[in-house]
Amino acid sequence: MGGHVFDQIVIGAGGMGSAAIYELARRGQRVLGLERFTIPHELGSSAGATRIFRFAYFEHPSYVPLMRVSFARWQALERDFGERLLTVTGGLDIGLPGGRVVSGAKTALTAHGLAHEVLTPREVARRFPAWRLPSQFEAVYQPEAGFLPADRAIVAHAMLARRWGAEVREGEVVRAWRATADRVEVETDRGRYEAGVLVVAAGAWTGKLLRQFGFQDLAVPQRQVVGWFRGDGRAFGPEAFTVFILECPEAGNFYGIPERAAGEGFKVGKFGHRLETVDPDAIDRRITPEDGAVLTWLDRYFAAPMGTPMRAKTCMFVNSPDGHFIVDLIPGQGNVVVAAGFSGHGYKFCSGIGEILADLAMHGATPYDTRLFSLSRPALSKAAAVAPAGA
Ligand SMILES: Cc1cc2nc3c(=O)[nH]c(=O)nc-3n(C[C@H](O)[C@H](O)[C@H](O)COP(=O)(O)OP(=O)(O)OC[C@H]3O[C@@H](n4cnc5c(N)ncnc54)[C@H](O)[C@@H]3O)c2cc1C
Repeated sequence: MGGHVFDQIVIGAGGMGSAAIYELARRGQRVLGLERFTIPHELGSSAGATRIFRFAYFEHPSYVPLMRVSFARWQALERDFGERLLTVTGGLDIGLPGGRVVSGAKTALTAHGLAHEVLTPREVARRFPAWRLPSQFEAVYQPEAGFLPADRAIVAHAMLARRWGAEVREGEVVRAWRATADRVEVETDRGRYEAGVLVVAAGAWTGKLLRQFGFQDLAVPQRQVVGWFRGDGRAFGPEAFTVFILECPEAGNFYGIPERAAGEGFKVGKFGHRLETVDPDAIDRRITPEDGAVLTWLDRYFAAPMGTPMRAKTCMFVNSPDGHFIVDLIPGQGNVVVAAGFSGHGYKFCSGIGEILADLAMHGATPYDTRLFSLSRPALSKAAAVAPAGA
């Protein structure tokens, strides 16, 4: 790649991009990261202080090995950064025994031989007194789950990457890019850059940057709202409460995170929220009473009232057609890598995906099993059909 100013350019320094920049810099690459906002910021998908990590992966058992790799990489980041990032609380996957969450969690845990316990609602209430679940429900307890500080971990990745020589530019918007057989050119509102390889980790903006490859249908931004609730105090602290996923047969899937610090409240969200597809540049970030009502639906499962939200905020999921990630080279473009469509469950894997992105950018291949994330999988076949070379 001699002659190019950079080995790689990474568009986006959110969760995934910052991890990729870190990993490439750690490997001695000359990497440029371009972020349109600040690092971190509140306007993408990685905003805020807490993200769940869990091994009981009801979505598909093949996420479990990636979680193991990612967990080890988070621990390495803690050492490099000199700060604790992982908080282990244990996790509960709750719902009807035949539902996707409970049965999928059991399948993933059994397939990978991970410790877990299946609890009745009565046992859940005894061990975690905040809960009052319907008698027909079941819960899978997995002791290794917990939460990560997304905003702080992004700072850690970016700060260490800079220390290893990466150039990371904030407040700079990529307007256009072009790839030829052996190099890529990127144009921003402030300049032009060249590199051997481009990594697109642009979250909700991926559809706009990769429109010619059909990504407006592959990485669809969706408005989300999370709320923090006071509840009855200590019952929601990390010593008495765990991260959870709850599948409600009538309303859909909810998730929650214990109160981190006294007075902050415990966090609750609903996957998909009100199913509102949005333009990331025009999303309505105001919180309405309807938004609050979606979250307080969970009240029926708690022993004491949740109360009204102490605060709430908007965020964006970026959904792929089948809910699985897209991490791949763009077909016909051996020097453009994409990481998108994390469908509301990607953060916990940033550290591992960063490593995979570095592999793909440097070698065009990775030893990790990424078949589930392939752009050529049947669920995305529409995209494969529209992929022309030479954008
Ligand atoms: C409310 C909510 C709760 C969630 N909870 C969990 C959870 O508990 N556990 C979990 O594992 N996951 C969770 N997720 C999902 C997870 O946060 C996302 O999958 C992950 O953060 C996606 O990271 P990303 O890097 O793809 O996107 P982002 O962090 O949004 O990064 C994309 C970046 O690209 C930048 N960018 C875009 N276009 C340009 C451009 N043209 N020029 C320069 N920069 C550009 C953006 O500014 C942004 O910083 C949650 C998501 C939301 C919204």
